[in-house]
Amino acid sequence: MSVICPVCNKLVCAEHFSIWWNRKKFDWSYSGKLTENCSRYFDKWWNAKKFNWQESWTLARYCSAQFDKWWDTNKYNWKFGSLELAAFCNEYFDRWWDADKFNWEHSYTLAKYCHKYFDKWWNEDKYDWQNASWTLAQYCHDHFNMWWNPERFNSSHLRELEEYCAEYKDKWIELKLYTTLQE
Ligand SMILES: [Zn+2]
Repeated sequence: MSVICPVCNKLVCAEHFSIWWNRKKFDWSYSGKLTENCSRYFDKWWNAKKFNWQESWTLARYCSAQFDKWWDTNKYNWKFGSLELAAFCNEYFDRWWDADKFNWEHSYTLAKYCHKYFDKWWNEDKYDWQNASWTLAQYCHDHFNMWWNPERFNSSHLRELEEYCAEYKDKWIELKLYTTLQE
């Protein structure tokens, strides 16, 4: 199994890639190291059948430039890699978006990195209001009227409302007064 560079003894070395790389002998349990260290040699090593798709979030993170070459909605690890799609592959949003496959525990990454596609992904029932209300206020204030729901917005995220959604104060002031009274 070939993963160690004979020149410098580094694991999955980028500098001497052409010296140690052997497509027949590579240990694919190191798939994540290939994406991280050797994305510039992507065309030389890419093998959709051998790649360890458990680590496919590393493709999104390190090989977003080659997105079209590796993307496979059925093989991709949505559970652990939804965050990386939103953060690093948002320019390909239309190619990968799937509301049923996306892990909504990573809701905040949609609000933070994909706000320009808000109309396409917004889903009041799936969004993680508990943990990610603040990201709506901070990054999606342009769409305030589309998402605002005083019954769902987490009232412990009022600071972001005040800071980023001041122009909609008449809409959220009631929630603030109600929350303040309860404290
Ligand atoms: Zn080396």
